[in-house]
Amino acid sequence: MPIKVLDSQVVSRIAAGEVVERPASVVKELVENSLDAGSSQISVEIRGGGVSLIRVTDNGIGIPATEVELAFDRYATSKIGSVDDLESISSLGFRGEALPSIATVAEVDIVTRAGGESVGTYLSVKDSSIANRGSQGRSQGATVTVRNLFRKVPVRLKFLKSLATENSHIANIVTQYALAFPEVKFNLVIDGRQTLRTPGNGQLIDSVIEIYGVEVVKNMLEIKNKGWESGPVASPPQVTGMISSPAVSRSGRDHLSLFVNRRWISSRLLAWAVEEAYHGLLMLGRHPIAIINISLPTKEVDVNIHPTKTEVKFVYERAVFSAVQRAARQALIELMPVPKIEEVATTYVSPPRQALWTSTEIDATLPLVSTETPAVALPILRVLGQLANSYIIAEGPDGLYLIDQHAAHERILFDKIKYQGTRQEIEVQGLLEPVTFEVNPKEEEALKLHYEDLAEFGFSIEPFGDRTYLVRAVPLLLHNKDWTGTVRELLASLSGGDKSNWWETIAKSIACHSAVRAGQTLTDDEIRELIRQLEQTSIPNTCPHGRPTMICISSGQLRREFGRTA
Ligand code: ADP
Ligand code: MG
Repeated sequence: MPIKVLDSQVVSRIAAGEVVERPASVVKELVENSLDAGSSQISVEIRGGGVSLIRVTDNGIGIPATEVELAFDRYATSKIGSVDDLESISSLGFRGEALPSIATVAEVDIVTRAGGESVGTYLSVKDSSIANRGSQGRSQGATVTVRNLFRKVPVRLKFLKSLATENSHIANIVTQYALAFPEVKFNLVIDGRQTLRTPGNGQLIDSVIEIYGVEVVKNMLEIKNKGWESGPVASPPQVTGMISSPAVSRSGRDHLSLFVNRRWISSRLLAWAVEEAYHGLLMLGRHPIAIINISLPTKEVDVNIHPTKTEVKFVYERAVFSAVQRAARQALIELMPVPKIEEVATTYVSPPRQALWTSTEIDATLPLVSTETPAVALPILRVLGQLANSYIIAEGPDGLYLIDQHAAHERILFDKIKYQGTRQEIEVQGLLEPVTFEVNPKEEEALKLHYEDLAEFGFSIEPFGDRTYLVRAVPLLLHNKDWTGTVRELLASLSGGDKSNWWETIAKSIACHSAVRAGQTLTDDEIRELIRQLEQTSIPNTCPHGRPTMICISSGQLRREFGRTA
């Protein structure tokens, strides 16, 4: 399509606003233009945090000589023509605002040659007007150079962070697009230093190696496109990409790359969907590395929400959420290993059981328990005994297993509570004599807030005067255990922690306080029963806090340790 200025009817429907906040915004707009131009090679050169120089060179379709000036007009675009086109946008750009906006805050040069032209066009724009124009030789494509960004807007300059910060924002933008477009060769040079280079061979894994390194890639799991069936959607969202196995994680949330139809987006909801898939697999405060590509019909996603185009709206939000969550979860289940001593294994020892999905969509009224966790099979284990009254020793088909009895029992009880809880069938034990229970003001606040939540789990607690409460019943699991300690600990964590997770907090705490302890002697029958029950849990190899319940020392490792070669 030739470049045309959009008519006012279309302009009025475009999410208006400034796109050039910082140097990285310029890089984003220019790289998006290069991608829209179908380039297979994109080089980005940066100097002085992007303030002195940003240069993006591509080998795309280029701009015809007759249209180069028009590209700098506001609302001039070759990507959409009518209001209808706004309904299904397949290009990254569509607003026709980037080049003119950049030209108002910087000096911009462009050298471009379109296919079929014998010579390229050079255009220099200063203070938003053409300063120079001519012919220049070059191969097909475009090079846009932006100099002295914000020189005329000192306030903007003042608000920029250090060069290092601006550089890292720029590197992040290029990184994200390198992940979204593995078939494009990206090259990023910052102050003369090569910062990123991807091979552009179309293999996501090779881009991931460049970005995260070989060690991380060894622990990345592939998400295979299953076209997750969901609800009312005619063509279910397709999810592909890679996610980290629980063996690698990060303390920050910024290693999650989300793309919708190859557009880099930010979405708290989808980030949550991915994190949810790791539920019970990662320690608190740890986050996965993930590259998630969602493809869906362009009509089912609205990108015209915000000028920077990183926020999108889905027509079938729940379907997208559950597609992402299931795809991630499935990848984890298929490949999740029992941690091995000699290596962080990436293949699981025995084939997983069929996943037991029960619900197809999330239900916000049932926090965190609405999606049934699918099972990972444990191999058949032959119990050999107990070690230090804390660990169970067992033999499996592939070696020796050491099982943490407390962690394993916690998993069993947590699943039981979860099962009973979702059916509102928690077993309750009435106390023969009601017991009085005194609380401090902070505990009282938490108690008032979570009365009913605690009741749901079998605690019957009622006010009995000045910061004193009467306990009439407790969960059966805690009967004969230190339930006052449990309640106190619960009130402490409920008053501080994340309110949305109260259900989990309570269930974990009950499981933890009623599970067998380390140091407790178990009979052979008890051990066998524990293993049998563990086999039936959703995720036998981690406890509800995400710690491993077991480790495996493989037969190979034993052979090596004993110097047996065969
Ligand atoms: P938009 O991308 O929203 O259309 P821009 O202001 O970013 O608006 O660009 C205006 C037009 O200039 C684009 O529609 C496209 O036709 C042309 N253009 C910009 N950059 C390039 C490029 N690197 N290669 C080819 N054409 C480009
Ligand atoms: Mg653009």
